[in-house]
Amino acid sequence: MSHQVVIIGSGPAGLTAAIYTARANLSPLVIEGWQSGGQLTTTTEVENYPGFTHGIMGPELMNAMRRQAERFGAQFMAGDVSRVNFRRHPFELIVEDEQTVQAMTVIIATGASPVQLGLSNERRLTGHGVSTCATCDGFFFRGKDLVVVGGGDSAMEEAIFLTKFATSVTIVHRRDKLRASKIMQDRAMKNEKIRFLWNSVVEDILGQDTVTGVRLRNVVTGSVLEVPCAGVFIAIGHRPNTTLFAGQLAMDERGYLRTYNGTATSVPGVFAAGDVQDSKYRQAITAAGSGCMAAIDAERFLETLEHR
Ligand code: NAP
Repeated sequence: MSHQVVIIGSGPAGLTAAIYTARANLSPLVIEGWQSGGQLTTTTEVENYPGFTHGIMGPELMNAMRRQAERFGAQFMAGDVSRVNFRRHPFELIVEDEQTVQAMTVIIATGASPVQLGLSNERRLTGHGVSTCATCDGFFFRGKDLVVVGGGDSAMEEAIFLTKFATSVTIVHRRDKLRASKIMQDRAMKNEKIRFLWNSVVEDILGQDTVTGVRLRNVVTGSVLEVPCAGVFIAIGHRPNTTLFAGQLAMDERGYLRTYNGTATSVPGVFAAGDVQDSKYRQAITAAGSGCMAAIDAERFLETLEHR
């Protein structure tokens, strides 16, 4: 039997699409992905999601969205989609290389993943001092000196959070101006445990079994500096999770899904919402908003199928 709507991903976009399509009696199936609840499950307090005067913890927000979707009858399936076939209709999705799921419409909400620096020691020492998630790993660095790489909101947020545990946090940024919003910049700059190293890139991460430091190069002067630290948190942006759709859906040069006239992708009946198609706003609330749009677009597409 073919599902009316299958949603790939369970972040704010996927869960909002689930709430709307479930309320429209379309019995959506949500294939959750390896990180159920998406990126917000790795953050602490979300202060800018409307409706929560004093903020809400990321995992709590995602949990509430999921329960809301379940209340209206959304079904959840654990696991990752390993392959899709959008060349036939109903569409076909293979979950965890074994189970086949058929769908009349698909809403893609697979989000984005943290970008890595691409150093071989970064890969080798991941989980041994190298991390992309302060909320997951910060606790292990009580009383240590840490380095955060990046100049955006994520880097500021990670650094501020890490000061709860660390003795000091050094933010290493490749330019002399931050990309982060003013409010996050101010908070980081006011924090006595945080210092900045400007115009600097990480050339190598040092350490045998665990991280012992980083080697930095100043891109203006060319000078090299070794900074001892017990952990390196990489916060240099995100890449859309679209490998699965290569060759089947139109993407821009950075791999974001192209959407047309709302949330439609290049294949009729396949819609995209959230960070997987948004390189500009990338907020929980915009992801949720586009999840709602995708649900409405999917519902209208199903109506046109009925009339054919
Ligand atoms: P981002 O805004 O794209 O910032 C990435 C940062 O990493 C930039 O400063 C960039 O430098 C640097 N960078 C990129 N590649 C690098 C490399 N190979 N080596 C060294 N540095 C590199 O990403 P983000 O901070 O993850 O934020 C993503 C979105 O989420 C933004 O829209 C942000 O506002 C939002 N966000 C919001 C909050 C909040 O409101 N509390 C928290 C987190 C994220 P350049 O500046 O030189 O390009």
